[in-house]
Amino acid sequence: MALDLIIRGGKVVRGSGVEELSIGVAEGEVAELGAEISGGAVEEIEARGLHIFPGVIDSHVHFNDPGGGERDDWEGVATGSAALVAGGGTCFFDMPLNALPPTLDGAGFDAKLAACRGAARADFALWGGLTPLNLDRMEELAERGVVGFKAFMANSGVPEFVACDDLSLFRGMEIAARLGLPVAVHAESESLTAALTAEARRASAKGVEDYLRTRPVVAELEAITRAVLLAEETRCALHIVHVSTGQGVEIVRRSRGRCDVTCETCPHYLMLLDEDMKRIGALAKCAPPLRGRKEASELRVQASHGGVDVIGSDHSPAPARLKESGDFFEVWGGVAGVQATLRALLTIGLPMARIAELVSENVARRFGLPGKGGIEVGKNADFVLMDLGVEEMVTREELLDRHRASPYVGRKLKGRVRRTILRGRTVFLDGAVVGAPLGQFLRPGAR
Ligand code: ZN
Repeated sequence: MALDLIIRGGKVVRGSGVEELSIGVAEGEVAELGAEISGGAVEEIEARGLHIFPGVIDSHVHFNDPGGGERDDWEGVATGSAALVAGGGTCFFDMPLNALPPTLDGAGFDAKLAACRGAARADFALWGGLTPLNLDRMEELAERGVVGFKAFMANSGVPEFVACDDLSLFRGMEIAARLGLPVAVHAESESLTAALTAEARRASAKGVEDYLRTRPVVAELEAITRAVLLAEETRCALHIVHVSTGQGVEIVRRSRGRCDVTCETCPHYLMLLDEDMKRIGALAKCAPPLRGRKEASELRVQASHGGVDVIGSDHSPAPARLKESGDFFEVWGGVAGVQATLRALLTIGLPMARIAELVSENVARRFGLPGKGGIEVGKNADFVLMDLGVEEMVTREELLDRHRASPYVGRKLKGRVRRTILRGRTVFLDGAVVGAPLGQFLRPGAR
C-alpha cells in the first residue's frame, strides 16, 4: 500500500504499554505499525527521542459558540480548538450550554454545528442538553447525532439551561435509554448547595473559603448516589462528569456491576488544591470546587488504578470582566485549561499507558467513536509528538485560547507538544497552528 506518511522511531504510548514503533499512515488512517517500515512515503517524520501519544479526545469543553450577541467574546471554536491542538488534542465534545442558543433542540444543534464547521481545528462531537423543558426534543437531538445528553443536578449558572429535578432526570434517562445514548450529569445536590449558599449570603459571606463551604464533598456524594440509583432503575448509561473526590469515584466503581456507569475527572482536581483556589482566585473558581490535599491524593490513586474512566478539561472560559468581582460568589466559575491536559497529567506522574486510556482509548469506546481512540491499525491517524525531556513554565504568550487566562500560567509542567497530527495531517507544529481548520463532525456509532 502506498503510504502518505511514515513516523519513524518514536516511543508509541498505548494502554497496553510503551514501545518503540514506526507508524505508517495512508488515507488518514494507521496502515502499518511495526519495528521497521520498509519503503518510503510522501512525508517522513523522524521521531527518535519523542513519545507519541494518541491525540487527546477532550470530551468536555465549553467553546461557547455561537454567542448569540451576548457571549460572543467568551471563547469561540476557532480559538478554543487552536488551544486544544496546541495541547495535543485532536477531538473535542462541545457541551450544550453557555453557547446561545443552548443545544436543547434541533435548531440549537444546527446553530452549533454551523459554528463549528470551517472553524474547528480538531474533529468534534456535540452534546445535547437534558433539562425539564426539552424532554420532548431529545429525539430530534438524537436524530441529528448528539453524543449523549448533559444534565445538571444543581444550578447550571445560566438561566436558559435549567437544572433537572429528580423526576425530569428520571424521565430524561428513560428517554435516553430508549435512544441508546448516555446521560452525563453534573452531580452536586441542589438542595444542599442552594441552602448552604442562601445561608452564607444571609451572613454576607463573600470570600473563597465561604464559597468552598457551600459546596461540600457530601453534596457531590449524595448526588452521585442518587444519579446511580436512577440509572439503575431506567437502565440508562450514566457518565458522571468532573468528579472532584476519590470518594465520588469509589461510589461509581462500586456501582459498576449494577448499572452502566462511568466517570470523568479533570486535571485541575488532580493537580490543584483548595489552597490554590484561595491563592489564584477567580481563574481557579469551579464547581464542584477544588478540594483538599487528601481528596486530591485519593483522586490521583483512582485515576492511576482504573477507578476514573475519562479525563476531560472542562475548559470553560469567560471574559475578564466576569472574573473581577470582589465577591467570590459573583465571579463567573470555570477553569480554562484545554491546552494543559496532557502536560498536567504527565506532571502529576500518572503512568503514560494510563494517560493514553484516560484521554483517548476509553473516551472513544465509551462514546461510540470506533474510528478514534488509541494508536492501532485501522484507527484514525491522530497523534501528538511529545518531548518529555522538557519541564517549563506555562506562559500566557503560548496560550491560544481567547483570553489566555489560565490557572496553569506560571506553573511548571512536564513535556512540550512538538507536533499534533489529525488524520495524518500536521495541524500544530512547534508553537503554531498549521493550515486551514480540518475538523469534521463525528456522529456516534455503536458503544
Ligand atoms: Zn462543564
